[in-house]
Amino acid sequence: MKRRFCLFFMKKENLPEKICLICKRPFSWRKKWSKDWENVKYCSERCRRNKKKLIT
Ligand SMILES: [Zn+2]
Repeated sequence: MKRRFCLFFMKKENLPEKICLICKRPFSWRKKWSKDWENVKYCSERCRRNKKKLIT
């Protein structure tokens, strides 16, 4: 029952979006981020790694 509710709730059009700090492109909520969406700042692992390059 719980699962069914989630599927209903997570319609694609309603997925939250953020702008990646590195590539400045919008990216959508992904299931793997469900626990940590508040802290997600990069669209991908690659961008996350690029963060270090930008700083130096
Ligand atoms: Zn990115």
